[in-house]
Amino acid sequence: MLNLVKSIILVVVSSFLITSCMPEEDYIEIVYQTEIIEVEVEKEVYVYVEVPVEVEAEEPTVEELRDIYYSGEFDGADYYNYFEIFMWEAQNYGIDLDYVREGEVIIEPRSHANKSFAAWAKERDNNEKVHIGIEPDLFFESTRTNRGRLFIMFHEFGHDIFNLTHVDVADCAEFNSIMNSCAKNDINPEMFKTLAHEFFSSMQ
Ligand SMILES: [Zn+2]
Repeated sequence: MLNLVKSIILVVVSSFLITSCMPEEDYIEIVYQTEIIEVEVEKEVYVYVEVPVEVEAEEPTVEELRDIYYSGEFDGADYYNYFEIFMWEAQNYGIDLDYVREGEVIIEPRSHANKSFAAWAKERDNNEKVHIGIEPDLFFESTRTNRGRLFIMFHEFGHDIFNLTHVDVADCAEFNSIMNSCAKNDINPEMFKTLAHEFFSSMQ
């Protein structure tokens, strides 16, 4: 910001005579003579201020959001975030799940008779209802990451929403599908993205 300010500077000029009182000299009186001189000065004055300006933020791309979600960077304590990520990704693949939103979606902590299940689809044959039970002690095991939890939830939504059954593998170390019955504590984000791509592509 540039302001051109004309300032009037008043300069007080004091002139005085130096006293000299030596006997052989004339007496000299000290006189203070004050004059006011008007000086006109042009000054450029720069003032820096921080002004809040609303700038339109760029929306993250689908790929950027994938990197975020499949890395587990979301609030994993909220059960419904897993559902929202699943629905978001299904939409990216053009899979119409509007009927799911129109129905009931219940994701709740509840113990299963089989204590080894971290989560399970309770009503997979009911298309009006998504009902996932969560065993919090297992689901939030300290070694399980948000990625691992999202993997489990994609698997359960695979049962509940896509009506998929298991794809068996002899060894869970060689899992190759979200529908393998191998619960993951963690998964490499790139691997997860690849398996999710195959999973959703197959439902198009
Ligand atoms: Zn299963």
